[in-house]
Amino acid sequence: MNTSSALSAAPSSAVPHRVLSGIRATGRLHLGNYLGALKGMIELERRPEYQTFYMVADVHTVTTPYDVEELRHNRREIIIDYLAAGLDPEQSTLFIQSMVPEHLELAFYLASVSSVARMQHLPTFKDKVKQHPQHVTLALLNYPVLMAADILIYKATQVPVGIDQQPHLEVAREIARKMNQQYGTDFPEPQRFVTPGEYVPSLKGEGKMSKSVEGSYINLTDTLAEIEEKLKRVPSDSGRGERPPETGGAATLLKLVELFQGQEARQAYEAAYTGEGIRYAQLKSDLAEAVYQQVRPIQQRRAQLEAAPASVDQVIEAGAAKARQVASQTLEEVKYKLGLG
Ligand code: AMP
Repeated sequence: MNTSSALSAAPSSAVPHRVLSGIRATGRLHLGNYLGALKGMIELERRPEYQTFYMVADVHTVTTPYDVEELRHNRREIIIDYLAAGLDPEQSTLFIQSMVPEHLELAFYLASVSSVARMQHLPTFKDKVKQHPQHVTLALLNYPVLMAADILIYKATQVPVGIDQQPHLEVAREIARKMNQQYGTDFPEPQRFVTPGEYVPSLKGEGKMSKSVEGSYINLTDTLAEIEEKLKRVPSDSGRGERPPETGGAATLLKLVELFQGQEARQAYEAAYTGEGIRYAQLKSDLAEAVYQQVRPIQQRRAQLEAAPASVDQVIEAGAAKARQVASQTLEEVKYKLGLG
């Protein structure tokens, strides 16, 4: 970022520092969602200088093939996951994206400064085209523009998301710059809020942990037995070598040790790798216990929330109303700048 864009990126003093993040409503949350996004969301919620807006990105879900009934169910489930993970609806505005239709209207205006070629060249778009060659739609192409609208409508400066979202953050920053230059809006350029778990690797030893790759993930709702079973299946190696592994299942295990048992535990295994050797059966069993200790309180809170559906409904209604207040104000400003009001 050069100096002039840094100046134009500064939020005006009237606007508090805001945070926006979201998770698509495509099913159960896994450890990648938790470490890459949710942990950062919780950390920022606890900092008094930030006003936090966290959505269920249900509109984004319709950009790739999906099951209608599952989506109807999952959008509510993600709100429950947010609450179970420890987000506080008194501190954060928790809402469902489609209940704030202002996002979609802003996305259309932002599309007027977004080139088709830029969207087509994004690695995330190319990946989805490979996954769903029969469903290359305008909605899919527009995904990053809608994400920019999600962020810019709150004039958010911090976005706690995993590293896979970095290309989309770049697009949001470019769009903010272009809108400010072309129409004189005052969008700040959002930054990704980075967490130690910004990239959680797959249990299969290749690529990232992902909902769309069976066998790659541990869900937040998994029992100790399920976690143990999934870790048992992670491919390992001989446990000894000149240098600790940097790829494959063994590297995934070391990364998970680092994230759940700490840097020291990882270093001890690395030392063992170049010395007497790692006993993977023991590593996996200890790791399963450490993972379960972190997810268990989330599961317990989830069970309480499932038993109190009215309180969840109330969070959803109140969140949408609060989000719409801010979103509609930004939209009015933008429409005025574009000559639409
Ligand atoms: P999605 O499920 O694609 O909507 O992702 C929701 C959030 O989880 C985004 O912030 C992603 O960057 C984050 N996320 C998803 N998978 C991972 C992963 N394997 N490692 C770290 N963050 C992830």
